[in-house]
Amino acid sequence: MKMRKKSHNLIVFFIAKNQRPDDPNIQSPNTRTEPHYKYIKMITDYRYSHTTYSELSKDDLCEYDCPKCGARHSTKYYSHYERHVISLDPDALKEILEAEGGIDTEAFLDIEGGLFSDMLLDVYRVKCISCNTTHAILPGDVVPYRRFGLLTMLGIVKLMYNREHSIEKTAKHIQLSWQFMLAVLYQWISHLSGMALLMRAVYQVRINELIAGASQKVLRFVCCHRVSFPRNYQKEHKKIIFMTHSQIHKGRKIVLGMAVNQLMQIP
Ligand SMILES: [Zn+2]
Repeated sequence: MKMRKKSHNLIVFFIAKNQRPDDPNIQSPNTRTEPHYKYIKMITDYRYSHTTYSELSKDDLCEYDCPKCGARHSTKYYSHYERHVISLDPDALKEILEAEGGIDTEAFLDIEGGLFSDMLLDVYRVKCISCNTTHAILPGDVVPYRRFGLLTMLGIVKLMYNREHSIEKTAKHIQLSWQFMLAVLYQWISHLSGMALLMRAVYQVRINELIAGASQKVLRFVCCHRVSFPRNYQKEHKKIIFMTHSQIHKGRKIVLGMAVNQLMQIP
């Protein structure tokens, strides 16, 4: 089990010329590093992030419930594969997610080593001893088939709303394409209703305005509850924030499960 930090220069790869802002498939097929099977089954373990995933050992892998057949504690180590996780510099991420007002992205150009890091994560796959299906075990801040981490995409959405410069300038400051940033924003908006429902059902917070106008209010709430919200969202809606419609339905069904002992919790 090892993780390697790669050069942030890989970010340049994402400045694609032909991306349409309304295209939910913002990553080309060759960036999809999860193995392709007819059914894709993943178990998210919210006790780990991509930076602490290496603490998960092979001995811990027998405790998961199977998302396919429902058998309890039925998994065992099967294999592993590598996948990329791109994340914002932790200090910058905190600053962005907790910002109340405008964010001066120009300052991010001075971050030594770059604003983003690209990590190769060694992901375990387990096999269910009851139904023989295999499942990847993902940490809680990784979105299936997306290179960018969940909180990093949340940070990009926050930057879209709180930027002090034009979208083109902001994109240059953080070395992403504005089309990519816009696509992430649209994906965020596509989850708004589900997030507002969760806020009401679990956190007892009501959105009184029309949902289309509540994006920033929901965003502030999710940023404040960023530890519990993604887990509760998956538990309630059986999908992960920033997973796109086409990712779920593109000819293959993605079956999602969660690690045991992850009962719905308020913050
Ligand atoms: Zn099973």
